[in-house]
Amino acid sequence: MLADRSRLHIALQKSGRLADASRELLRDAGFRIQSGKNSLTARVENFPAELMFVRDDDIPTFVSDGVCEFGIVGQNVLEEFALGEPDQRYEVLAELGFGRCSLRLAAPENLRFDGPQSLAGTRIATSYPRLLTRYLKEQGIEATVVKMNGAVELAPRLQIASFICDLVSTGATLEANGLKPVGTVLESQSLLIRTKRPLDEAREAISAGLLSRIDGVLATKESKYIMLNATEDALKQITQLLPGAEAPTIVPLHGRPGHFAVHAVCQESVFWETLQKLKGAGASAILVVPIEKMMM
Ligand code: ATP
Ligand code: ZN
Repeated sequence: MLADRSRLHIALQKSGRLADASRELLRDAGFRIQSGKNSLTARVENFPAELMFVRDDDIPTFVSDGVCEFGIVGQNVLEEFALGEPDQRYEVLAELGFGRCSLRLAAPENLRFDGPQSLAGTRIATSYPRLLTRYLKEQGIEATVVKMNGAVELAPRLQIASFICDLVSTGATLEANGLKPVGTVLESQSLLIRTKRPLDEAREAISAGLLSRIDGVLATKESKYIMLNATEDALKQITQLLPGAEAPTIVPLHGRPGHFAVHAVCQESVFWETLQKLKGAGASAILVVPIEKMMM
């Protein structure tokens, strides 16, 4: 594959738990992705970028080597990779808020567990040997790490290991296999990463455009636009109640002396509770609307 050096290359998981959300993020950022799901690459029609669809485990390598300038990958995969590298050749640009899971220690339901010390001298099966080894070291525990590439939850039943250390989101798989979580090694979500290899000026400028669009999407996810009316004496308390709003716009209402409209972008979730408090503080005609696009 001969990479086109006038474009940016973004490594995404081809298929799996991160695949759909990764594409959706790029689509929300306004990128029109050309081809179908099964090809290995796809051009972005309206932006000088090309997507590379690969296994998630290859993404840290591709980005570190500069084969792809950007990538979207789970923190679990990235940190496991990083622990095996002498120097870090990528940087994390953003937490993307999807693909959340935890790397958990788990034991058969009937096994007695009295804290991390119970792991001493045991065998623990995992696909994340480096992360597990780091955890054991931090806890000052010696145990045998057994590397498995899949079906880790079967290890206790097959008597390969007494404990497992595996990714969990809802815990349903553990339960279905008669296992209970007993500790957490890592909390993970998907990350946007970038190569540390220097880019030429043109591609540096394209990168800045890509980032600002993705930042815009991430910012709008939680943000809401609030509009309300209030009397002058209530303004101070009301503006303090607005969650994560900097410098709200306050304008006088035409024909109603002493009454104002307050408009603000709230960068945090707006709950019913907040609305009730605003009303209690004297706000009326409160409107909360979603924000479709935002560029800071
Ligand atoms: P690939 O074929 O790309 O190697 P995979 O089978 O290794 O895929 P997936 O199961 O698709 O990987 O998971 C990809 C990522 O999704 C994980 O590395 C993790 O960051 C995240 N994830 C979120 N929830 C879970 C979960 N319950 N189990 C496993 N991974 C999860
Ligand atoms: Zn994988």
